Amino acid sequence: MTEIETDYLIIGAGAVSLAFADTLLDEDPHCHITMVDMHAKPGGHWNDAYSFVALHQPSAFYGVNSMEFGDDVVDDHGPNKGMFPLASGAEVSAYFEQLMKRRLLPSGRVTYFPLTEYLGDGCMKSILSGKKSKIKIRRKTVDGTFYKTSVPATHKRQYSVAEGTRLATPGDLPGLWMQTDRLPGHYVVLGAGKTAMDAVIWLLEAGIDPDAITWVRPRDSWLINRTYTQPGPDFFEDIVDNQIAQLKAAAIAATGDEMFEILGRGGYMLRIDPAVKPEMFHYATISEGEIELLRKIRNVVRHGRVSAIAPGKMTFPTCEETVPDSALFIDCTASAVPFDEGRQHGPQFRGDTITLQPLHVPLVTLSAALTAFLEANFDDDDTKNALATPSPLTDTPNTYPLGLLTNIMNRGAWAQNPKISAWLASVRLDPTGKTIARLSQEGSPKLAALGKFQAAIAEGLPGLQRLAVAARAAHQPR
Ligand SMILES: Cc1cc2nc3c(=O)[nH]c(=O)nc-3n(C[C@H](O)[C@H](O)[C@H](O)COP(=O)(O)OP(=O)(O)OC[C@H]3O[C@@H](n4cnc5c(N)ncnc54)[C@H](O)[C@@H]3O)c2cc1C
Repeated sequence: MTEIETDYLIIGAGAVSLAFADTLLDEDPHCHITMVDMHAKPGGHWNDAYSFVALHQPSAFYGVNSMEFGDDVVDDHGPNKGMFPLASGAEVSAYFEQLMKRRLLPSGRVTYFPLTEYLGDGCMKSILSGKKSKIKIRRKTVDGTFYKTSVPATHKRQYSVAEGTRLATPGDLPGLWMQTDRLPGHYVVLGAGKTAMDAVIWLLEAGIDPDAITWVRPRDSWLINRTYTQPGPDFFEDIVDNQIAQLKAAAIAATGDEMFEILGRGGYMLRIDPAVKPEMFHYATISEGEIELLRKIRNVVRHGRVSAIAPGKMTFPTCEETVPDSALFIDCTASAVPFDEGRQHGPQFRGDTITLQPLHVPLVTLSAALTAFLEANFDDDDTKNALATPSPLTDTPNTYPLGLLTNIMNRGAWAQNPKISAWLASVRLDPTGKTIARLSQEGSPKLAALGKFQAAIAEGLPGLQRLAVAARAAHQPR
């Protein structure tokens, strides 16, 4: 068995692990990092994505800190018009490959083992050759697999499929042009999340009649209005306005559901069907243009999750639905990340292990980069953990307030620490830090928004704490 030595062993080479490695290289100029990943290329689940996948947040603050992603020019057409571009899946994969080839490997301080499974206890196995190696870890193991991202191409379906059923993943759709002799007469999209929305929009943009689409939506979802997630000085007041609206809503709402209703009325949160109460919130972000497209689908089936499909038929827990025999089912039921578990793996820093959990949900790459910054710049686990409370993921409007409160508490701790606040003022992964630094330099009147935000914290915090207590109870194992 070969023996390798390293300071940090990172399990995974997805976006989160790469953001951690990238910042650690800068902050600790002497450490050596080894990255192990089962995929053949860096970028994790983006390697398995359907071809028309795109980021739902602006590329401007996704990826790693050292490398810009996308340009500064807003889109001038399509449903994202007026907003910063969203990278396609291919662009995300290419970005991470460039990072590995142009920065991490040439640094001479990173060793990367693709197509390799980490087995635990410093042991790894080459997936293709089966050869095992041992790694001596001088400092820490970094777990970059917390999010357990699941995509249609790789997840395990939770419903049965009868023989002869036409079933595709979203990734199969662009290949339909090669099947003109057996094109489906109807399309059934299974799932209510962002992947399903992408698939519906793809079909509509490909010219499919909206009435030739049936959409199985077990739960409707609240969606973040992308207008309020744009980086840079032009959108700064909108971002702060959204934060203030959330705090004001928390101050008066009796439940998370009510908080979202208030935010929905203000246009900060969007829903596809105004007549249906959304029971899901997974941080999916959308434009009003995309919402208009999605509203064209009138055949919406709301009988819960499908348990079986067969040609012309879908079975639900309490009923059946028919669809045309020629229908193509499109599986969009992968859960992306296990939002419903409210799972936390204990503290971020635990002795010789770091678990890369969100510190400002949903900014997962900022959270990982900041974790690396804390690792390199602060001495002991207690100090680091006091600056890094993991923010739980949310599944419903009622579990959301706990993540929001954790974000605000973490941000407060970071703002009071001069080292961290100076770092945040320089990083591209934080949608506001750099902008605030720039506006301060310019003495911009836009900074008045921050005073209103402070007032909103004072007004909203008691309500948010009350909602967070209820969210914590909902997060307890059922
Ligand atoms: C369609 C889609 C769109 C998204 N859009 C956005 C967005 O716009 N903005 C945003 O912030 N987030 C978005 N996300 C969330 C996304 O999950 C994160 O941004 C990020 O890509 C997750 O990266 P990760 O490194 O945690 O996980 P992964 O990409 O899953 O990487 C983990 C890696 O660990 C490897 N691994 C696991 N176990 C082992 C082992 N034992 N040995 C070796 N390797 C192992 C896996 O092979 C994998 O490559 C999106 C997710 C999906 C599915």
